[in-house]
Amino acid sequence: KTAPFSGRVAIVTGGGGNIGLATALRLAADGAAIALVDMDADKLASARKEITDKGGRAGTYCLDITDADDVGKTVDQIVSDFGGVDFLFNNAGYQGAFTPVPNYPEDDFQKVMMINVCGAFSVLQAVARHMVKRGFGRIVNTASMAGVEGPPNMAAYGTSKFAVVGMTQVAAKDLAPHNIRVNAISPGLIGPGYMWDRQVELQAKAGSQYFSDDPEKVAKEMIAGVPMRRYGSLEEIAGVVAFLLGEDSNYMTGVNLPISGG
Ligand code: NAD
Repeated sequence: KTAPFSGRVAIVTGGGGNIGLATALRLAADGAAIALVDMDADKLASARKEITDKGGRAGTYCLDITDADDVGKTVDQIVSDFGGVDFLFNNAGYQGAFTPVPNYPEDDFQKVMMINVCGAFSVLQAVARHMVKRGFGRIVNTASMAGVEGPPNMAAYGTSKFAVVGMTQVAAKDLAPHNIRVNAISPGLIGPGYMWDRQVELQAKAGSQYFSDDPEKVAKEMIAGVPMRRYGSLEEIAGVVAFLLGEDSNYMTGVNLPISGG
C-alpha cells in the first residue's frame, strides 16, 4: 500500500515543539516531505534528526512568525527547496500568562496576540498565495479548547484562540474557490509534558476560585472535568490533523474539531 501523503510537501510551524513534531513525524510516516518552521534552532535540529532517523525527509527553517517579511521570504524559500507546498499545519503558539483579567499584563496580552493571531495569519496568507497559484491546498490551524470555552485566567490565550477559529472560518470561505480547505483543531488537556506541567502549576498560582493552590490537586481537578477522565496524547492530535489534511475529509472546510475527551 502506498503512503497516503507520498509526494506531498507539508509546512509545520512550531515544528520543534510537542504537537508540531509529533504531527510532523506522523505526516512523514505517511510519506510527506516536511518543512519544519520554528524560532528555536536547537529544537528544529533535533526534530529534523528524529524525522530523518526514521527515514523521512525534512528541512528546517528558523523563523519568528511575527516577522511578516521574513515569513514571506521563508515560505518562498520552502517552495523553491521542495518544489511546492501542499499542506500547512499552522501550529506555532504561545500560552502567555495565567492571571485574572484585572491584573493581566498588557505587554503579554499583545505578545500572545502577535504570535497566535498576527503570526498565524502571516503564515496562512503567505502559504495560501502559493496554494492559490497551484489550485490546491490543505490547511489546519491549531486553535484550542481555550478558543471554544474561554478558560479562567487566560485572557490573552483564550481571546487569541477564538480569533484562530474565526480566521479559519473566514479563510475557508475566501479560499474555497481555489480548492484550498482550511480547518482547525482544538486540543484540550494534552500530556504529559511541559505544557501540561506549566498549565497546572500556573493555574495553581493564579489564585482564582476555579482551582486550588496545590498543583497536584489542580491536575486532579482538571482531569475530573474531562468525561474520558484522562489527558490526550500527542499522537491523538497528530491523527486528527492527518485526517483533516487527507482525502477522508474532502468535503470539510471551516470546521474546528475538538480533541478533548468529551
Ligand atoms: P510547544 O511549546 O511544545 O510548541 C510550540 C512551538 O512553537 C515551540 O517549539 C516554539 O518555539 C514555537 N514558537 C512559539 N512562538 C513562535 C514564533 N513567534 N515563531 C516561531 N515559532 C514559535 O507547545 P505545543 O503544545 O506543541 O503547542 C503547539 C500548539 O498547540 C500551540 O498553538 C498551542 O497553543 C496549541 N495547544 C496546545 C495544547 C497543549 O495542551 N499542549 C492545548 C491546546 C492547544
